[in-house]
Amino acid sequence: MSDIQQKIIQLRKVLREHNHNYYVLDAATISDYEFDVLLKELEVLEAKYPEFDDPNSPTQRVGGTITKDFQTITHKNRMYSLANSYSKEDLQDWETRVQKGLGTDDIQYTCELKYDGASINLTYKNGQLVSAVTRGDGFQGDDATANVKTIRSIPLVLKGLLFDDFEIRGEIILPLKGFNQLNIDRIEDGFEPYSNPRNTASGSLKLQDSAAVAKRPLDCLLYQVVGNSEYETHFNTMEQARKVGFKVPKAIQVCNSLNEVFEFIDKWDIQRHQLDYETDGVVIKVNSLQYQDELAYTAKAPRWAIAYKFKAEQAISKLLSIDYQVGRTGAITPVANLEPVQLAGTIVKRASIHNADQIAKLDLRINDTIFVEKGGEIIPKIVGVDTDKRPADSKPVQYITHCPDCNTLLERKEGDAKHYCPNTYGCPTQNKGRIEHFISRKAMNIDGLGGETVELLYDAGLIQNYADLYDLRAGQIVPLERMAEKSAKNIVAGVRASTSIPFEKVLYALGIRYVGETVAKKLARHFKTIDKLMTADFETLIAVDEIGDRIAQSITDFSNDLLNIQLVDRLKSYGLQFEVDESKSTVQSAILQGKKLVVSGVFTKFSRNKLKQSIEDNGGIVSSSISSKTDYLIAGDKMGPAKRTKAEKLGVPIISEDEYLRMIF
Ligand code: AMP
Ligand code: ZN
Repeated sequence: MSDIQQKIIQLRKVLREHNHNYYVLDAATISDYEFDVLLKELEVLEAKYPEFDDPNSPTQRVGGTITKDFQTITHKNRMYSLANSYSKEDLQDWETRVQKGLGTDDIQYTCELKYDGASINLTYKNGQLVSAVTRGDGFQGDDATANVKTIRSIPLVLKGLLFDDFEIRGEIILPLKGFNQLNIDRIEDGFEPYSNPRNTASGSLKLQDSAAVAKRPLDCLLYQVVGNSEYETHFNTMEQARKVGFKVPKAIQVCNSLNEVFEFIDKWDIQRHQLDYETDGVVIKVNSLQYQDELAYTAKAPRWAIAYKFKAEQAISKLLSIDYQVGRTGAITPVANLEPVQLAGTIVKRASIHNADQIAKLDLRINDTIFVEKGGEIIPKIVGVDTDKRPADSKPVQYITHCPDCNTLLERKEGDAKHYCPNTYGCPTQNKGRIEHFISRKAMNIDGLGGETVELLYDAGLIQNYADLYDLRAGQIVPLERMAEKSAKNIVAGVRASTSIPFEKVLYALGIRYVGETVAKKLARHFKTIDKLMTADFETLIAVDEIGDRIAQSITDFSNDLLNIQLVDRLKSYGLQFEVDESKSTVQSAILQGKKLVVSGVFTKFSRNKLKQSIEDNGGIVSSSISSKTDYLIAGDKMGPAKRTKAEKLGVPIISEDEYLRMIF
């Protein structure tokens, strides 16, 4: 074995170990930075020596495979449902059936939490992950291997032996912290928040771009090893699974009687609120694998297991009134004010209702007695109305027709769930919202300024838009309430300092709808200057890799607006960065300087994202569609025939991944 190969293998091993420490054990032993340095080192070696490629290398975690059609795969072992129970009597009945079936009452159980996500069946051969298939209808599911490989807590290579070949099942979940952060980011970028962690987790598995899946903080909790008899009990099998690298939650417990099962249930009915993921119950299983075999299955579910469902976290309250909030994009969100009520350990006074359809669907009326539920979301939601308690003279809620802030007639476009205030530049809340977004940490990150100060400055008439920030003088700020000379000077200094913030952040700060952080980065890299971006027409915009109709339309709308042109001109005059600073770029060579490349198909030595990154690192530009201006089409496996025909017709050179590598090295 060559030194290089040994080095690569060693790096992979070390990275896998750190990955396991961090994502499975939750006990990192090196910093993120040190991890990234090692990963980068491996990436460079792998790109240089593609002959040592490994589909389960830690570098594969970032994804990049595009799946247009998920293949249907028949499960080797059917994925059953679970019978449900809702009371301790139900469980006693179940125990009686189990005892009868086995002819003994000497039975041990295991209790686990019921993880609320999307079930997945993982197949391992010789210690390597070979496939991941969703449950589907239980008989066959979708091949989600590429997406699942990006989930860091799922081992791609095991740390030791479990069995040569086996299947293991688990639940892919989105932890609450990650879910809530995802929603904060989405709202920030002008998108609707996701409704709950479970649907978001299962939706993630269906995404076509595995790189997008890699960005979601998904996790996988394992609960069953299928079809083996080496261990005597389910519990021991799971313990061993944990040892070889799987995330098997510590809550799993052996119980020697149904009473112990009840204790487990009562304990977790309370403690579940402290978990960072959602659980809707407990799964009780007969622990002996031989007993499991004997009991076997009904047409739908194993006889050897049963789920006990916790009662939903509900409370009864009264709807006092509805507030309508205006977001920075003009979207209206109704929020219910409730009679304060205790729910899942907190006092709830407000609940979200999302939009007008939701109000109509629930037929909400003021003074209604309502049910509120709390899941993984920060704000609880109204799930129903007790119509028996409804006052006789109540009338359906009339949704507002005008903006609660500026009184403009609201609009609702076809296909939109929300109403919008179209008075983009005259609506105070939207104006303030845009300034707050502009100064926020991920945008211009202006020291000394926060939401409250913006409000103060705006209400005092000192600023109307973000460009006005650069005209502020300390002397104007000091007279304001709660403003000392020192903080006024800090504000002015913070604003000045922001003129060195790089272009991609400035672009994000402008608050163009659908131009979030990632899109802003893409656009900045592609167009290099604000002028090129703002003069680009719709066609030019959608030709940019990963820019779709909706984003392109939003950018042209922004660029054609005279007010925006003036704002940007003013910002330029204050010295803000509106061009990519090439001296600070990560470009490693200029071999592809100015060349336009299109990437299509599936690659073996690069993930798609890495390939695109490599093109940009070498000065090239990635486009999404072939035109006469395209310099090269890099063709991978399974490239669509239409693309090839088009390239041939236009005389665009088609090169392979290897030819590309030879070009840049
Ligand atoms: P249901 O979808 O209600 O029929 O419940 C069955 C599903 O619960 C299984 O397909 C699993 O995906 C999921 N599940 C979650 N946690 C567990 C667990 N600890 N043991 C077994 N199944 C579980
Ligand atoms: Zn308004």
